[in-house]
Amino acid sequence: MAASRSCRFCAARLEDTFVDLGMSPLCESYVRPDRLSEPERFFPLHALICRQCLLVQLDAVVPPEEIFSEYAYFSSYSDSWVSHARTYADAAIQRFGLGQDSRIVEIASNDGYLLQHFVARGFDVLGIEPAANVAKVAESRGIPTDVQFFGRAVAVDLRSRRGPADLVIGNNVLAHVPDLNDFVAGMKELLSPDGAITMEFPHLVQLIEHNQFDTIYHEHFSYFSFLTAERILGAHGLRIFDVEELATHGGSLRIYAERMERSPDRQTDRVEQLRNRERAGGYDQIERYAGFGDQVEAVKRQLIEFLTRAKTEGRRVAGYGAPGKGNTLLNYCGIGPDLLEYTVDRSPYKQGLYTPGMRIPIRHPERITETRPDYLLILPWNLKDEIMEQMAHIRQWGGRFVVPIPGLQVFD
Ligand SMILES: [Zn+2]
Repeated sequence: MAASRSCRFCAARLEDTFVDLGMSPLCESYVRPDRLSEPERFFPLHALICRQCLLVQLDAVVPPEEIFSEYAYFSSYSDSWVSHARTYADAAIQRFGLGQDSRIVEIASNDGYLLQHFVARGFDVLGIEPAANVAKVAESRGIPTDVQFFGRAVAVDLRSRRGPADLVIGNNVLAHVPDLNDFVAGMKELLSPDGAITMEFPHLVQLIEHNQFDTIYHEHFSYFSFLTAERILGAHGLRIFDVEELATHGGSLRIYAERMERSPDRQTDRVEQLRNRERAGGYDQIERYAGFGDQVEAVKRQLIEFLTRAKTEGRRVAGYGAPGKGNTLLNYCGIGPDLLEYTVDRSPYKQGLYTPGMRIPIRHPERITETRPDYLLILPWNLKDEIMEQMAHIRQWGGRFVVPIPGLQVFD
């Protein structure tokens, strides 16, 4: 696929670097043991910012079909995701007065970890999920799921077959969409006149302020401030009427949108407050985005120094988790099994594989108890509280937790 150097929203020419993380393999392309002698494909991981609309973005170097048709991420393996979803479902049912005749569509519904809470209450739901293996898991749990990439054409078809949707959910999908305009137009197309869209996506302001450069990876094409998200939805006739700030993924926004032609009676003060906060922070000016590269290099130096010192002192370091973000971190910092012996993951899908590029073996969490490492480097730092609780027993042998982002922290 030819590299496009124009903004995926406004088509302006892209000339400004946000951060250049060098070359990296696709973060979900875990390596099977029988493939260890083969080479891997590396792609530039270079985020640009659009001068005109301030959308931070990567070239879509690989077609999404290649990335998402067999995806290794199953949301249900995280306890906190499942409970986050339950709380959301309860609140949405109440807030939007959803009843048995309401239609709920979730785009990128993964293994049904969210829709299951609506199904349990007897709602008419449909999941749309591009990864066939993940959709199959959802179907087996009784969640109707179409295997496809969402866009305007799919929305038109769905609407004619099933009618418009009263609630359209799109969590952690907007960033993964190569054709942003087609996707947002599709959401509007599918929405009933009084319906609501809710979308969650990582907040670019949090990414910058907390050094979350490892949430940048090839599968993640766009990074949004609230101001930019509002501009994009607005261009497609959608108005954001409420916004919540969530702790998920290190700081996400949940936006609530409706058709522009609807009366703005649901508008909350939080929309204007967040707009003002971003403006006050300078996020409406491109200058604010310069300097992120220096922050990122400082994090890299800290982590490498820590691991090198631990090694010199004869300490053992293991990892916890093999998330996509860990692979950006490990590749950018050049951390292989010489500095991080192995990592563990609860997902049986990843156990026995090796992390892309750096080829750190991924084991079952029991391995931690067997080898008693001195330090446990938590790669999914957004779940650090949950992990430190689950793994509290490492303290029995004096084990300590290490979190690399926003800056290196060691927890006794
Ligand atoms: Zn732009």
